[in-house]
Amino acid sequence: MALALQSRAYDGEAALARWMRSPAYKAWRAGVESVKGCLRPVRLIGKWEVRHAATGALVASRRGRVWAACGTRRAAVCPTCADRYAADAWHLIHAGLSGGKGVPDTVSRSPRLFVTLTAPSFGPVHSRPGRRPCSCGRWHPDGYPLLGSPVDPDSYDYTGAVLWQAHSGALWHRFTIALRRSIAGAGGLTVRESGEHVRISYAKVAEYQARGLVHFHAIVRADGPSGPGSSPPVWLTPDVLADAVRSAAASVQLGTVRPDGTPLILRWGAQVDVKDITVTDIAGDGDQAVTDTQLAAYIAKYATKGTGATDTGDRRIRSQLDIDQLRVSDHHRAMIQTAWDLGGLDQYAELKLRHWAHMLGFRGHFLTKSRIYSTTFKHLRAERQAHQLQAALTDAGLSDNTDVIVINNWRILGIGYDTPEQLELAAAIGDRIRATRQKRKEVQ
Ligand SMILES: [Zn+2]
Ligand SMILES: [Zn+2]
Repeated sequence: MALALQSRAYDGEAALARWMRSPAYKAWRAGVESVKGCLRPVRLIGKWEVRHAATGALVASRRGRVWAACGTRRAAVCPTCADRYAADAWHLIHAGLSGGKGVPDTVSRSPRLFVTLTAPSFGPVHSRPGRRPCSCGRWHPDGYPLLGSPVDPDSYDYTGAVLWQAHSGALWHRFTIALRRSIAGAGGLTVRESGEHVRISYAKVAEYQARGLVHFHAIVRADGPSGPGSSPPVWLTPDVLADAVRSAAASVQLGTVRPDGTPLILRWGAQVDVKDITVTDIAGDGDQAVTDTQLAAYIAKYATKGTGATDTGDRRIRSQLDIDQLRVSDHHRAMIQTAWDLGGLDQYAELKLRHWAHMLGFRGHFLTKSRIYSTTFKHLRAERQAHQLQAALTDAGLSDNTDVIVINNWRILGIGYDTPEQLELAAAIGDRIRATRQKRKEVQ
């Protein structure tokens, strides 16, 4: 066995060395570097042209082969692209906290809360409650593999858990409506009247817990009637906002049915965490517990995580055989199996549970925000593209307000890498690029 492994490793090294000496290597390497070591790049052939709008004269062009990064959110699929996603998520969240990217700085004076809404219990799970033992009667060490798994899998309400997860996005939506109602009530106003005094916006991320259910972490901000540039009414203090969040979270419910027709009422878990993150550190003496920068980083990090069920990316389930072959914990398998089974029932057709079985029934987006919270991913990407276009115009000796037409005409040649050696090498290049970038950040 040891011999076989050794010779395989040797073959890999030989193949790698052969590839690095081959004539195609240089162009390939440039491709990998152009996508910063993306692990699933899309290789394209075609042309990109920038033409003067009035005369049609060619300003800049590129033809031949180009690589495009996969752009995934999930770190387990492609660390390079997940890094970029996290960076964009950071900008998006940070702008809503401190201003920037088109959001006025005054936004940092609006009452802001960091809110965590949890899933309710569907049966006792192995846990580390701290001062007392787990509900199974034992004390578990940190990293105990069964943390989050049911103490009694046979009586655990898997159906309830999956149906809750599938409706969690809708539950959040109801929460935002209840919150507006609750705030209006606090000011002695109707919901409609309150729109002339206050606008509520939020950015939220979903994070899987060990028990396979998501928590929502959200920044909830109260602005004046015209959004981040305007001041909210004086009566809307962070405390009033926090009370409104708690009462809205407690009141929200959503009714569905179990497969046998028994009603099932879905709610948030009792554990609702609300922290005031409105800037209190006006003196600048560093007394504020968490800075906007740290908080934005904390939230952005969640956006690149998957279910935690597997070490690799969470892959879509297409058949019962896929489930049987998964290398996941019994608990995650039971969540996926339940989602798959419920997904086969007509009454849940619109939940598309088979499509979302690999996400343990969660169908929502990992990062969502209300329109007025801050900038968007689309805007951040467009900004990057505009930057590239401007560089091309500068190269051609034109000013950046020249009217131009950009023509893209590309065909896909392939996705990902052809051999395990190429993949390995690309991963190493990506690691190195990220390490360099990280070091530069630390120096700044
Ligand atoms: Zn990628
Ligand atoms: Zn236990």
